[in-house]
Amino acid sequence: MKTYEAYCFDLDGTVYRGAAAIPEAVAFIHHLQAQGIEPFYVTNNAKYTQAAIQQKLAVMNLVVPAERIMTSSIATAKYIAKHYPNQTVKVLGQQGLQQAIAAENIRVVSEQPDIVAQGLTVNISYEALEDICYDIQNGAKHIATNGDLKLPNEHGFAPGNGSFVQLVQNVTGVEPLYIGKPAPHMLEIIRDSFGFTKADMLMIGDNYDTDILVGIDYGIDTLHVDTGVTRQADVQTKQAQPTYYAKTLAAWL
Ligand SMILES: [Mg+2]
Repeated sequence: MKTYEAYCFDLDGTVYRGAAAIPEAVAFIHHLQAQGIEPFYVTNNAKYTQAAIQQKLAVMNLVVPAERIMTSSIATAKYIAKHYPNQTVKVLGQQGLQQAIAAENIRVVSEQPDIVAQGLTVNISYEALEDICYDIQNGAKHIATNGDLKLPNEHGFAPGNGSFVQLVQNVTGVEPLYIGKPAPHMLEIIRDSFGFTKADMLMIGDNYDTDILVGIDYGIDTLHVDTGVTRQADVQTKQAQPTYYAKTLAAWL
């Protein structure tokens, strides 16, 4: 097994399931850290700040520097700052997105934005959706943190950000730009910031349609784990295959 410089872990279904750590993943991360390799964490979850994710991982006995945590909110803010400097943004999202936008010193407005940034908002209102529909019809660009349609939990599936983004798209007819996996922006920011080559990077995740496809499309190696959304047996039927499979990360210790 090759050694990589940048191990990029998905979080939910890969490192933990809800509030419960996945012990084999924790052991593998400890093993990497003991060799002086500090992994990255790459999540589509836009709700939480780096600090909140850092705290959650700390409870699972994982000590992780904040700058190793990449969320679709952070990537959205960095994308806007890089590609649309000096443009104004209306934010529909929770603290993770609001704080990421503020950290890039992007000007936030409530009227006539140049850009609408949309992330999952659990207290979303009809009025808020209505307003961004008008903004986009008036010319604002529509940027979505991620396109996940549904979020698995113990009850079944809950609506994900992508379901609300599609609702807005149905009204405006304007195609949104998606930042989260399977789009490459989070991996690209990590590669840019730390100076890796693609050959140095491995994407590890449980969800074929996001984690594995982002790695394949971006051109880096991928490892599918069978601890979350997509079962290994289903991945094996796909045309584009991950580089590696593991039932759990114990196989990699
Ligand atoms: Mg996952």
